Amino acid sequence: MLITNGTVLTYGDNPRVIYGGAVYLEEDTIIEVGSTAELTARHRHEEILDAAGKIVMPGLICGHTHFYGAFARGMAIPGLPPENFVQILEKLWWKVDRALTLEDCQYSALVALVDAIRHGTTTLIDHHASPNAIDGSLDAIAEAVEQAGVRASLCYEVTDRNGDDGARAGIAENVRFIRQLQANPHPRLAASFGLHAAFTVSNPTLERCLQEVQGLDVGFHTHVAEDKADQVDSLKKYGIRVLERFEKKGVLGPKTIAVHCIHIDSYEMDALRATGTHVTHQPRSNMNNAVGVADVSGMLKRGINVALGNDGFSNNMFTEMHATYLLHKINERDPRAMPGDVVTEIAFANNTKLAEIFWPQPIGVLEPGAFADIILLDYYPYTPFTDGNFPWHVIFGIDGSQVTHTIAGGKLLMKDRELHTLDEETIAARATELAKGVWRRVAEL
Ligand SMILES: [Zn+2]
Repeated sequence: MLITNGTVLTYGDNPRVIYGGAVYLEEDTIIEVGSTAELTARHRHEEILDAAGKIVMPGLICGHTHFYGAFARGMAIPGLPPENFVQILEKLWWKVDRALTLEDCQYSALVALVDAIRHGTTTLIDHHASPNAIDGSLDAIAEAVEQAGVRASLCYEVTDRNGDDGARAGIAENVRFIRQLQANPHPRLAASFGLHAAFTVSNPTLERCLQEVQGLDVGFHTHVAEDKADQVDSLKKYGIRVLERFEKKGVLGPKTIAVHCIHIDSYEMDALRATGTHVTHQPRSNMNNAVGVADVSGMLKRGINVALGNDGFSNNMFTEMHATYLLHKINERDPRAMPGDVVTEIAFANNTKLAEIFWPQPIGVLEPGAFADIILLDYYPYTPFTDGNFPWHVIFGIDGSQVTHTIAGGKLLMKDRELHTLDEETIAARATELAKGVWRRVAEL
């Protein structure tokens, strides 16, 4: 396929804007990026996708999400409103996840993926929980990913809050899914070993996870110090802080994702850097849960790879970028904090590095050899749009609602805003039926 006449935003190490640009792809890989004149001359007989009046850029990557939370949209939380983070978990999320069946898991993924394709998010790193439907849950989600045509890495969040059997079943689901993918590799699916968080995973369970992970060649995907409660619990039970414990046990490493990292000190930041552990930032979720603001610039200055996730918020990663841009300014009472180019670097370059854990070819960049995960958006700039200022166009003028075409692995998942792989109406109708059951079970818990 040859995409022509677009304003191509390449991102990558040398991000640039190519006016009248073109991208040539074969199967799931980008072969050439350049001017429309040159590429049209070289690839005359190709299927052409005309991108006149559009931006052509890499599909977005969501570094941390929870498909399973989809059915909480619009649901009333029974009883008094939660007053803090632990109560949010107890009154909302730990009821929603217990209410899920395997079909609920699959449909919560399908509705999230409709949203992702519509808003140009083509890679998602999911963290799943369904304590009453653990075995096979990652297969149910993988089927949804397969159908949607996006790229995803999956894991099951191991926790002790559902007793020893629950912890063992979570471990088994991770191991089963990882081994299955290793035996039958899939170009768009990947896996990691999920842990809920330090305060819900005891030492015996953690040791079992570490034993199982040996030889699997995967890292962990875990929440870290999202709320102060995680540190208080760690100090009380183990006499050390969360990341000190994780470092000592061997949880950290270049394939591990530490989500949030809000309440961490400089020693813990050094541990992240020394082990090459990736961090993801989710400002919308952090504001919603009122848990605090991560020291993202501090971590970036230390050379830690801070990427961007959405923690189950809408799969419009542009909104997450906009939130990142705004949150740190008000938090630091400094309009110079978190400039647009740093936001862009987090959402693209750093998410590209995060995706390297899971996929052999680059994602999040338009360059030869990268996976052909590409989006087209309607956008007519009315001020100069250059190599130097495009991040501020992305912050102030561009949003996921402008996406018209979504391509992943070289396949069109959405063309002219029409979904090609998923039937939104049918999925939404079935999901609404399933949601009623989930809401009823939540009310009974
Ligand atoms: Zn999360």
